Amino acid sequence: MTDDSIGAFRDELIDSGLVIDAGVEGLYGRTLAYEEIVSGIIALTTRTGAGDGAMAVHFPPLIPRWLLERTDYLKSFPDLTGSVHTFGGDDKRHARLLALVDGGHDWVEVLEPAEVVLRPAACHPVYPLCTGGPLPTQGRRFEVQGWCFRHEPSADPARMLCFRMHEFVYVGDPDGAGAHSELWLKRGAEMFESMGLDVDVVVANDPFFGRAGKFLAANQLDDALKLEFVSPVSSTETRTAIGSVNRHQDHFGLTFGIESADGEVAHSACFAVGVDRTALALLKRHGLDPGRWPAEVRARLWP
Ligand code: 5GP
Ligand code: ZN
Repeated sequence: MTDDSIGAFRDELIDSGLVIDAGVEGLYGRTLAYEEIVSGIIALTTRTGAGDGAMAVHFPPLIPRWLLERTDYLKSFPDLTGSVHTFGGDDKRHARLLALVDGGHDWVEVLEPAEVVLRPAACHPVYPLCTGGPLPTQGRRFEVQGWCFRHEPSADPARMLCFRMHEFVYVGDPDGAGAHSELWLKRGAEMFESMGLDVDVVVANDPFFGRAGKFLAANQLDDALKLEFVSPVSSTETRTAIGSVNRHQDHFGLTFGIESADGEVAHSACFAVGVDRTALALLKRHGLDPGRWPAEVRARLWP
């Protein structure tokens, strides 16, 4: 794979009027034609998990700062974090802000961090909903989707600053978490294949940060804690993750103080669809005009 082929796919996406360059690397606007693909993927994902009794919830792309601290994201991926800053000053500080802007200087020093940060994964807001007493015997299930942010600017359109994730989450006992992972490994592969995508399942190797990150990465690999569905996205030569199954073990149970029905620390697992990456994988596989995609793929996405 060369950077040229990745850049070429980005140019094709923009030239075809599907996505819009929004002004900095990795940030895109979307046109209706693109959003119709996204709606099809979201509806298919919902249908795939229907009948499990998952509670469907939506959250904004912002989470409380305390939630980011408690998920340990800062330990693992500080370099991907996005923080929100706001202006809380008086007239004098406002004058300083405007003077800095007018002078073409850096003006963020006048701002202060807000109580919210950008959400790096769709599922993070559901764990605090599971505290306050033992979970029901069958555990709890959530369907959660929405915009996520990771600060990794890139010319590769598969690496966006802002993208949508659609997840099915289980919180309960270890057996239930294991069953959820197994079920979604099978269902996920079938779902991606039903859209005509060529997917492999591989053990993930996340880019954990720094020296301590080497240990986390080794752990993730050894215990196969995360499996990814990989498919050609920006290039036909390399595969990119379009979805994942994550076994958290007791990580969120411990951090949030979640108890399973038998009073033990809860285990959890989630299946995540990278909705925008799946849209790009479909465009790579079937071409840039969804009107000309195979009839069976169109029927799956838009029944
Ligand atoms: P994970 O939490 O497993 O890293 O992310 C879940 C899914 O979100 C990934 O499998 C991938 O499809 C999607 N995703 C992760 N990072 C990016 C990104 O930078 N851009 C886009 N479009 N999707 C991403
Ligand atoms: Zn998740």
